[in-house]
Amino acid sequence: MLEPGRPLRIGDTAIPVHQILGNNPGPMTGPGTNSYLLGDRQLVLIDPGPANDEQFSVLMRCCERGRLRYVCVTHTHRDHSPGAKALAEATGAELVGLAAPNAAGQDQSFRPDRSWQGGDVLECGDFRLELIATPGHVSNHICYLLAQEKLLFTGDHILQGTTPVILPPDGNMADYLSSLRSLQDRDLRYLAPGHGRLMEQPQEEIRQLIAHRLKREAKILDCLKSLGAVTVDELVVAAYDDVAQHLIPWAKKTLTAHLIKLVKDQSVREQDGIWSVTG
Ligand SMILES: [Zn+2]
Repeated sequence: MLEPGRPLRIGDTAIPVHQILGNNPGPMTGPGTNSYLLGDRQLVLIDPGPANDEQFSVLMRCCERGRLRYVCVTHTHRDHSPGAKALAEATGAELVGLAAPNAAGQDQSFRPDRSWQGGDVLECGDFRLELIATPGHVSNHICYLLAQEKLLFTGDHILQGTTPVILPPDGNMADYLSSLRSLQDRDLRYLAPGHGRLMEQPQEEIRQLIAHRLKREAKILDCLKSLGAVTVDELVVAAYDDVAQHLIPWAKKTLTAHLIKLVKDQSVREQDGIWSVTG
């Protein structure tokens, strides 16, 4: 059973991987943010979560089993990265991830120790961890691959039980889809998401997520064709008629991300806030 603050060993892996659920449940975090601790002598912590005393002491206790080498963040939303700084200071661990973009909801306190990029590999004794750039949810998103276990830590790129919000202009639907497609040639056994439980059918999850986005895109185009020229507020009601009322403000953001992609594809145009199909 997964309980906040209690590490749970996950997956059938030789390298120990523990999931630690943060005590921050909510509408945007689901059960809470997952932190992951890898290894037993040399340790890597992925996504330390929010900065508070409770979270700090939970993670410090979990790290007593070995030496914390790296604190990695998948991205710098405030439910993922703010805890990194204090942990790195307390343990001497190196901070890994990309600096925050200049956008709403970003943790500007996160300062990586070097300029990391996709393809970089962290050497950590018994295991190696590869950084995979996966922009889309936000521009500075990174997934981490524990290749020898075929286990991918997906942050908010792929979630369990829900689909990620794409937040434009920093988030980008075209990038999101190509980041998903770039994972389709990888040999994967597990996905460990930033929110929700371990997933055991990675390629099926990725296929469904791409199909879901393309289906939504087709629905948006159909709605625009039948409604004619409309505002985003009018369009969201029709194109997201399957979404609960309280989630409509978030749906509007993802709808905008779809529309930006469709303009780039030259399927849609916008004038003074009014959207219509081209041709
Ligand atoms: Zn996020």
